[in-house]
Amino acid sequence: MDNRFQKTRNDFPILNQKVNDESLVYLDNAATSQKPNQVIDELVRFYRNDNANVHRSVHTLGERATEEYETARQKVQKFINAKDTREVIFTKGTTDSLNLVASTYGAENITASDEIVISIMEHHSNLIPWQQLAIKKGATLKYIGLTADGQLDMEDAQSKITDKTKIVAIAHVSNVLGVTNDIKKIAQIAHSHNAVIVVDGAQAVPHMKVDVQDLKVDFYAFSGHKMLGPMGIGVLYGKTALLNKMSPYQYGGEMIDFVEKDFSTWTELPWKFEAGTQNVAGAIGLGRAIDYLTTIGMDNIAKYETELVSYLLPRLLRIDSIEVYGPHDVGIHNGVVSFNIKGLHPHDVATALDMDGVAVRAGHHCAQPLMKYLGVVATVRASFYFYNSKADADKLLQAIAETKEFFNV
Ligand code: PMP
Repeated sequence: MDNRFQKTRNDFPILNQKVNDESLVYLDNAATSQKPNQVIDELVRFYRNDNANVHRSVHTLGERATEEYETARQKVQKFINAKDTREVIFTKGTTDSLNLVASTYGAENITASDEIVISIMEHHSNLIPWQQLAIKKGATLKYIGLTADGQLDMEDAQSKITDKTKIVAIAHVSNVLGVTNDIKKIAQIAHSHNAVIVVDGAQAVPHMKVDVQDLKVDFYAFSGHKMLGPMGIGVLYGKTALLNKMSPYQYGGEMIDFVEKDFSTWTELPWKFEAGTQNVAGAIGLGRAIDYLTTIGMDNIAKYETELVSYLLPRLLRIDSIEVYGPHDVGIHNGVVSFNIKGLHPHDVATALDMDGVAVRAGHHCAQPLMKYLGVVATVRASFYFYNSKADADKLLQAIAETKEFFNV
C-alpha cells in the first residue's frame, strides 16, 4: 500500500506539530476531521470580503453572500445526488437534522399504536430523539440487534419492521463498530411496510460516495465538521413531498411568507426550515470542503481507508490481550476500529497513547446502549481519514506496545 494521499498532509497545518514532544498522529477523525488550508482560507475570505446576511439585502455584499450560500447548497445537492436543491436543508449538524425530523415529521405522524424501529448501534443523536418521541406519544420503540460478529442483524430487522412501523432510523456507518449497514435493503423493507427511513450518515458521507436517490432514503442527515468543513454546519436531506407536508421546525425570520397578527404562512423549501440567521460562512466552508473531497474522489478515499484498516486490524488482533469490537473481517470495516486492552481502563490507554503523540478517543462514544450490549463501559477508538498513513498505524501499534509494557499487562 502506498501512502498516496501523503501530499495532502501539507494542506492540513494542524497535523504538522509536536504533541508531548512527539509528532502528532491524529486518529480521532470520527469525532471531527481536521480542516485543510483551502477551507480555512475560504472562511477567512468570506468574512474579509463578502460577509452579509443572506436573502435579505439587495446591496452588493448581500447578493454576493446569498449567491455563495446557495451555490454551497448546489454543491451539497450534487455531492449526495439529491434531485433538487429544495431537498437540501442547512442545519447545525447531524444532531440538529435528526431532531428536526423527530420533532416535525415524527410529532405529526406518530400515534400511540405506532412503532419506531432503530438499532442498538445508534449514536445518541439517532436514539434519544426517537426515544423521547415514543415516550411523548406512548408509541413503541424497538431495537434491531447485532449478529455475533457485530453487524446489523438483517433477520432481526425483517422481523422488527412490521406494518405497525412508521419510522425506521438507522446509522449508515457505526461510529463504534465501523460497519456499513445495508441502507438500500433496510429502505426496501421499511417501504414495503409504508414506513419512512431516516438515515444517520454522519460517519458515511465523509468517507464514501453517498447517493440518496440510489439508496432510496426519505431523510438523510450528516455533519460538515467530520468531512473537512467547519463545525456548526450540517445537512438534512429530505424528499420534497415529505418536507412539503411537514410543519416548520423553528419559527422566526426568513421562513415566512406572510405574517398577520393572528396567523402566518410559510415560505417554500428549503427556506421554510431555515429560520433566523444561518451559518452562512459554515455552509460556504462546507461547499469548499466538498470541492476538496470531490477532487480526491470519494471512491479513492473509501478504498484507501479500507487499505489502512486492512493494515492495522490484523496487527492489532495479533497483540496479546487486545479485544477488538465489531467485525474482524476488514472487507466490511470502515476506517473506525474500537478496542480495549484487557486489564486497562480505556481512558488510561488514551492518556498513555497521547503521551506518544497519538490522539484517539476513549469513552462510550455517545452509544451507551451499545456499550451495554457489548458488555463494556467504554472502548478506545482509532479512526482514520485519507491524510493518515500506514506510518500512523505503525505509530499507534508501537504506542500500544509501550503502554502495555508500562502497565505490565
Ligand atoms: N451520528 C454518528 C454516527 C456520529 O458519529 C455523530 C458524531 N459523533 C453524530 C451522529 C452526531 O454528530 P454531530 O455531533 O455533528 O451532530
